[in-house]
Amino acid sequence: MNPPEQTTGVPPDGAEKPAKRVAVTTRLRLYFLAPLTVVIVAVAATWAFMLYSHERAEVERAADRIETSLTRLYDADIRHGAEMLSAAMSALRRDAELREGLRGRQRDRLLARAAPLFADLRGRFGITHLYFSGPDRVNLLRVHQPERHGDAIERFTTVEAGRSGTAVQGVELGPLGTLTLRLVEPWYADAGKTRLLGYVELGMEMDRVLHGARHFLDAPIFVLISKEHLTRADWEAGMKMLSREPDWERFPDAVLSTQAAQAIPPPLAAHFAQTPTGTGEADFSVGRNFYRTVSVPLHEATGRPVGRMVAVIDMSHPVGAMRRVGYTAGLAALGTVGVLFVFFHWLVGRIGRHLEDNECALENLAAHDGLTALYNQPTFYARLQDETARTQRYGRPVSLLMLDIDHFKRVNDTHGHQAGDEILRRLSEVIDRLSRAVDSVCRYGGEEITVILPETDLDAAANAAERIRATVERHLFEIGGGKNVSITVSIGVATFPAQADTPPALVSAADQSLYVAKQSGRNRVIRYAPPAA
Ligand code: GH3
Ligand code: MG
Ligand code: MG
Repeated sequence: MNPPEQTTGVPPDGAEKPAKRVAVTTRLRLYFLAPLTVVIVAVAATWAFMLYSHERAEVERAADRIETSLTRLYDADIRHGAEMLSAAMSALRRDAELREGLRGRQRDRLLARAAPLFADLRGRFGITHLYFSGPDRVNLLRVHQPERHGDAIERFTTVEAGRSGTAVQGVELGPLGTLTLRLVEPWYADAGKTRLLGYVELGMEMDRVLHGARHFLDAPIFVLISKEHLTRADWEAGMKMLSREPDWERFPDAVLSTQAAQAIPPPLAAHFAQTPTGTGEADFSVGRNFYRTVSVPLHEATGRPVGRMVAVIDMSHPVGAMRRVGYTAGLAALGTVGVLFVFFHWLVGRIGRHLEDNECALENLAAHDGLTALYNQPTFYARLQDETARTQRYGRPVSLLMLDIDHFKRVNDTHGHQAGDEILRRLSEVIDRLSRAVDSVCRYGGEEITVILPETDLDAAANAAERIRATVERHLFEIGGGKNVSITVSIGVATFPAQADTPPALVSAADQSLYVAKQSGRNRVIRYAPPAA
């Protein structure tokens, strides 16, 4: 059965549809799309964040690897430096002239012999310290600084060499603030090591020792010494002696022991100025490059912490990769969310429209009569209820026509039931055409049709009924096979609230008038006349 295409009297279905459509689709979008969007956004954001975190962890791992490398390279540098010092010491030990000089405590003789050797060691291996001390550890000669002598050497390496009777090496902070790798060896006059000649000390500045680490890491390495271990005047004197510009005030608790101070990038200098010696990592950028500082604490041979070594590692590559992954993942997530949102928005809209169409079709089916496409009886009662309620609110009348085909049984008997159906359909069209947009035409029962006429009093309703009756009487109803049939109708008319004060009373009144019309000869309109009180 087709859904009715036309209705009668009432506003066309199309006028109701959009509001309902918006409501259903909007509801669907709200209930379905909103949580879905939240889920998609959450999933995409999590995905992007995980990718970014993974890259970030890679950066951290790279930094950790570099830190481990720095520690290992430092140890290797110390070992290598010590080996160089040992080799140089072996050469010196075999020099009879030096041994004689030391035995006789002859400073001039020692200096004359040691000066060219020292110049050679300095030039070739970066050895910066060469000391000769007596068996009492009192300094006899500092070859690099001949005018300073006569003081007792109380440093760990020398004391330990005296105690153990063998060579001792280690990193030590000199009184002038230079961190030096030293090797102190006791020299003996005899193979049995019973007659001590004195001590010979070789030293190499940390700057030089760290050569390997700098080279392999391809990074600048700064050595910071804690001020608590230094005396300002001594340190400044030491720096001047090494032809460096001392700047004691530059950082709060440490001084820069190696590398030209101006080579420090300003953000790193700011970091050094803020963080106490021996702590923290810093990330900073210079131009488009990213750097990370990796620091390793420095200890003297005694185990005393004296400062830290800070390598500045160029992290531009891993950080750049991390950022690229972050941006790309973010954009991809955004794009995915966008595409999924558009797709689901469209899909939900489509489903929503289907549902709305089905709902409208169902409503139409439920409200209308299948044969005539007029409103059915339940809808008739609902509309009548609405109209009478409205009428009561505004104090306006509403009238009801109740129409019945005259001798319809006979038509059926004569022309067949299908012809009867066809006549019912066409009669419905005729009545619908004659009604106003605000009227409701309904199939009340078998061949009984009602028309609700809002804002219409009894006279106007009777006129409308008469127009219908007369039109039907004149009309030729085609029933197929070239045949036409004429019919007549009887119509009862009643009005609310003048004649009936409830919808059932109105129906009953119209029905009674119809009955009177039938009784009084059919093909006529009868107004309801209330029984005399
Ligand atoms: P009256 O003038 O007294 O109304 O005579 P009537 O023959 O029309 O009697 P009544 O109204 O009591 O009978 C209704 C008849 O209408 C019965 C049935 O044969 C016929 N009818 C009812 N509904 C349909 C329908 O849907 N299709 C067809 N073809 N006939 C119907
Ligand atoms: Mg009937
Ligand atoms: Mg009838």
